[in-house]
Amino acid sequence: MKAVVYKGNGQIALEEHSVPAIVDERDAIVKVTLTTICSSDIHIKHGAVPRAVPGTILGHEFVGRVVETGNAVRKVKPGDRVAVNVETFCGECFFCKRGFLNNCTDAHGGWALGCRIDGGQAEYVRIPFADNGLTVIPDHVSDEQALFNGDILSTGYWAAKIGEIKPADTVAVIGAGPTGLCTMLCARLYTPAKIIAVDTDEYRLNLAKEKGLADITLVPGGEDDIEEKIRNVTDGRGADTVFEVAGGKDTFQTAWQIARPNAVVVIVAMYEEPQILPLPDMYGKNLIFKTGGVDGNYCQEIMDLTACSKLDSGFLITHRCGLDEIMEAYEVFENKKDHVIKYAVMP
Ligand SMILES: [Zn+2]
Ligand SMILES: [Zn+2]
Repeated sequence: MKAVVYKGNGQIALEEHSVPAIVDERDAIVKVTLTTICSSDIHIKHGAVPRAVPGTILGHEFVGRVVETGNAVRKVKPGDRVAVNVETFCGECFFCKRGFLNNCTDAHGGWALGCRIDGGQAEYVRIPFADNGLTVIPDHVSDEQALFNGDILSTGYWAAKIGEIKPADTVAVIGAGPTGLCTMLCARLYTPAKIIAVDTDEYRLNLAKEKGLADITLVPGGEDDIEEKIRNVTDGRGADTVFEVAGGKDTFQTAWQIARPNAVVVIVAMYEEPQILPLPDMYGKNLIFKTGGVDGNYCQEIMDLTACSKLDSGFLITHRCGLDEIMEAYEVFENKKDHVIKYAVMP
């Protein structure tokens, strides 16, 4: 089969690879029907994910059809259409029992797919702990509607949940890329009065506004003094919750600066460099910082909300291609060419 393999040192390649087989009785083999490229794949390509293992097939955001299951698999069966959780997790360790799937202590636990174990930019993939990591897609939900269930939509959903948004709050989201847009989509579920989107890309800001995800859009560096503008629309206070989803050079500083005292600042972004936390400058603001990688606990809830049209992320797909063309897709996606938001890649 064809698969995108991480070669180490910033190199990836589309290669011939053997088809995976069941290794553990809790595994399933899934035929990938639609896959995509995530900015985390670009981080791996840049060598910014030290735990990524060279030789691994990339891809942690995909949907498919179960073709084979191990003897201990109960929830899914061959023939089921499934969305795949970015995190594989045992369900039994200290962290899993407390809902911290990202910190699952199993050798395959946490974000392993497409990083430490073979992922889904391929024709077939082996999913460990299949009963935990696969969510059945209802017949009336398309592959495109379900594609982001286990990764960026899970991330937006988790971020919004830990953001402690109250009705009528003002929410600021820094970064209107795919995960930023998913964060806005999920923040809407908590009925804030205003969502303010901040990004340097006006096309993405317009999309956020057009899709009803953002009420106010701001471009840093231009005419907009972001901190002042946000104070102006919040009676001088600042945003009640800030989501930092950009991971840019100054965006961490912007995140705490635009937060009101006692706000929650959720750091969703994955930085390629260390960030400075200037505690003396923020003394007395009593901010609550929440950081980290998604705990992908809510795939079923997200699927239910997708099935009843309360969460629709299909609009993120701006580009489509076959697996044969995925290297060109990487080039377009990495360089944000042609107003790309997300690819749908069909093996
Ligand atoms: Zn991802
Ligand atoms: Zn675990």
